[in-house]
Amino acid sequence: MNFDSVIIGGGVIGSAIAYFLSGQSKGTLKIAVIERDPSYQEGSTARSAGGIRQQFSTPENIRISQFGGDFIQNISQHLSVDGDPVHVSFEEKGYLFLAQDAQIPILYNNNAIQKQENVPVALLDPEDLARSYPWMNISDLAGGSLGLEGEGWLDAYGLNQAFRKKAISQGVTYFKDEAVGLEVANSQIRAVLLKEAGRIGCGTLVNAAGVHAATVAEWAGIDLAVRSKKRFVYSFSCRTEIEGCPLTVDPSGVYFRPEGGQFIAGCSPEAENDPDCHDFDVDYGWFEEHIWPILANRVPAFEAIKMENAWAGHYAYNLLDQNAILGPHPTIQNFFFANGFSGHGLQQSPAVGRALAEIILNDSYQTLDLQRFSFQRMLDNEPLPEINVV
Ligand SMILES: Cc1cc2nc3c(=O)[nH]c(=O)nc-3n(C[C@H](O)[C@H](O)[C@H](O)COP(=O)(O)OP(=O)(O)OC[C@H]3O[C@@H](n4cnc5c(N)ncnc54)[C@H](O)[C@@H]3O)c2cc1C
Repeated sequence: MNFDSVIIGGGVIGSAIAYFLSGQSKGTLKIAVIERDPSYQEGSTARSAGGIRQQFSTPENIRISQFGGDFIQNISQHLSVDGDPVHVSFEEKGYLFLAQDAQIPILYNNNAIQKQENVPVALLDPEDLARSYPWMNISDLAGGSLGLEGEGWLDAYGLNQAFRKKAISQGVTYFKDEAVGLEVANSQIRAVLLKEAGRIGCGTLVNAAGVHAATVAEWAGIDLAVRSKKRFVYSFSCRTEIEGCPLTVDPSGVYFRPEGGQFIAGCSPEAENDPDCHDFDVDYGWFEEHIWPILANRVPAFEAIKMENAWAGHYAYNLLDQNAILGPHPTIQNFFFANGFSGHGLQQSPAVGRALAEIILNDSYQTLDLQRFSFQRMLDNEPLPEINVV
């Protein structure tokens, strides 16, 4: 069995690549996606918080999310199959980054970059914050930055499924199987070895294996600095109405946002308390001890909340700079990477899918130049850092 392109991983990234590659090649390529878990319960996508923001500090990340926002707002035009509308429940309610005095220079710096990239974003002073969000304690705040358009959250699983369904309608074959090895000869990937179906010959191979990307790379003797890092999302109810609540990022790094009639919240741990991890065990104590006090300080009504539920998911964490690794390997040039998205791969999936299709088909990016995310920077140890306010 032979395919022109094989993609390992049918999460939101692999499925977005399959959709764009089959669309851009107009059915001339035989494309396969290998996905071992069609229930998508263990991958990052279904466990994501589903956020999309334009407030980044790297111009490419801003442009990636601008394309992503536009794509999601017109999703039925892109991903409808047989005229059925596509629903991903996009809630365009903005991201609000809060800053204390020490963080104001970063907030203003980021704002200057965002303005250059035409991001609709407003800087708010404490009076603006008090007026717009009367439920918020602003006593320790020096300002905030609010995205006015193209930011919010959506149904991550729904987006994954929509890409997958459309890719299949464009002729892509999904295998429910596990890739267990690669056949490599003369600096080329020749085939993918599957647990059930055996050997599949391939012209190009894409690594879209999420937190398992380093294992797939290792089969070709490639060291990929992407590790699985566990993140918790806690949901809670609050009896008081919190009107007009955007996705709010506290200066501590704790974020919260509405989810249906409830809220969700989470936070990334300090680097020294962030081991490589694949299990799904939830640390409920961390909510009580760390997150809740911060929530209650920021929103006094959150003193009386009740935690309802919690889940764990994993970031495919790029140890160098937490940014994506995109494009061909410098030596094994028919081996393409779309990995290391850390906490922002969902919103990047439309632009990454398009970019990988472009570089596979044309050897260069045609729309957004994403060359700075190349594998080469990993080998050169040249981070492309994203400067967050927190
Ligand atoms: C708690 C949490 C919150 C997040 N919040 C956001 C957010 O607000 N906004 C945002 O943009 N991003 C967010 N993210 C990140 C985002 O979810 C990920 O970056 C994105 O889903 C990555 O997609 P993926 O397709 O690369 O990975 P995955 O969804 O993990 O897909 C990879 C797939 O590869 C398959 N696979 C792996 N190895 C093999 C193999 N050997 N054979 C066959 N199949 C294989 C797996 O089964 C899996 O389905 C969050 C992540 C988490 C965990």
